[in-house]
Amino acid sequence: MTDTIRFNLGESDIPKFWYNILADADIAPAPVLNPQTLEPVTPEFLSALFPMALIQQEISTERYIEIPAEVRDVYKLYRPTPLIRARQLEKKLDTPAHIYYKYEGASPSGSHKLNTAIPQAFYNKVEGVHAMTTETGAGQWGSALAMACNFMGISLEVFMVKVSYLAKPYRRILMEMYEAEVFASPSDRTHSGRAILEKTPDNPGSLGIAISEAVEVAALSGGTKKYGLGSVLNHVLLHQTVIGEETLKQMGLAGEYPDVVIGCVGGGSNFSGIAYPFLRENLKNGQRTRLVAVEPAATPSITRGTYAFDYGDTAKMAPIVKMFTLGSDFIPAAIHAGGLRYHGMAPSLSALCDAGLIDAIAVHQLGTFEAAAIFARTEGILPAPESAHAIRAAIDEALQAKEAGEKRVIVFNLSGHGHFDLSSYENYLSGALVDYTYPEEAISTIEERLPKVSY
Ligand SMILES: *Cc1c(COP(=O)(O)O)cnc(C)c1O
Repeated sequence: MTDTIRFNLGESDIPKFWYNILADADIAPAPVLNPQTLEPVTPEFLSALFPMALIQQEISTERYIEIPAEVRDVYKLYRPTPLIRARQLEKKLDTPAHIYYKYEGASPSGSHKLNTAIPQAFYNKVEGVHAMTTETGAGQWGSALAMACNFMGISLEVFMVKVSYLAKPYRRILMEMYEAEVFASPSDRTHSGRAILEKTPDNPGSLGIAISEAVEVAALSGGTKKYGLGSVLNHVLLHQTVIGEETLKQMGLAGEYPDVVIGCVGGGSNFSGIAYPFLRENLKNGQRTRLVAVEPAATPSITRGTYAFDYGDTAKMAPIVKMFTLGSDFIPAAIHAGGLRYHGMAPSLSALCDAGLIDAIAVHQLGTFEAAAIFARTEGILPAPESAHAIRAAIDEALQAKEAGEKRVIVFNLSGHGHFDLSSYENYLSGALVDYTYPEEAISTIEERLPKVSY
């Protein structure tokens, strides 16, 4: 047993329930506000965007929500995903730490995003929806939802952040193979896109802008198109908990329990997916695992942002939620980890960070690519640049354990592979990558850029 590398589960181990952290963590959910009225949203506002089943999950405080059989059947294409002991990485680092990674890149679309794309498309189908809209950064979410919609007979329009659309044409082609329509954002197809192009014709786009466009198309469709979001919202984080539930079982097979669980954060879904089941064990069963969210220094919403109500998008059309935010109107630097370039953070994760139950750190771009290179050269997998943030933190944790002379058990989520990110790696290899730090001037103006709400 001592030299086992992969901890394998069978099809019957695929979780039958999603886990809802709101049942166990003592965080009072703040109201979600309508961006026009600044008052709590009505069910009608939300139902223009989402099917009822997802709205109910969004506000649910039930501890466990059953995963529909039809969703589990599609999960069977790639779940349970592997948990792998990174023995070659441990050897390279010469660390007494034990490092494990949960490999969500094993999904057909290449990341954890399919875990929520499948149920989102499913519930839309059940409620008679035939068309959806969404945004995508690097293209991982767009590919996942494109596949899920294609399976469920739903057509999909994707607004893809322009820098990624230009740098990552292969992701667009994958989405088109799943019969989605893809537009570079800001586009001239929406009021919000045209307004931005008028002011800044060379705008590189951002997730905030792309969300505005996708929300606008759904909101103005007269109920014929619904919108799907790949992160941030409670129902999305809920769907991702299959990651942590499987990891708990797999750590049981390994005969160890993590001292630290690490994940990268853009909107917070893959991190919450692996971390919330471990947080349950901390809260209910006396475990003391440290949970570490890793963000880019270029968009450090938790470590440098403000915990306040803010718009979910740039054009102020999406709901206002209470979260760690850098302000919805600032366009972050065009780092290669496009999936982490978001100004805000999931409300539940923000509340848990604020309550001190979850830690956050920020890492720089170059260090993350160096970590990706070490990982590829020891474990073989070329990670997504987003996931490389978690690898950086895991390596640093293992090096600290070495310095302290401690055997520490480290688990991180490898949220996706980097096979569509080769132009980013080409930049790294040619020495063209630079570090970005979120500008101090922008930090000092966050407060004044927030909506003035009285909640
Ligand atoms: C989208 C994405 C992320 C960031 O999103 P979260 O919701 O924070 O998980 C991280 N890694 C990969 C591979 C992604 O595709």
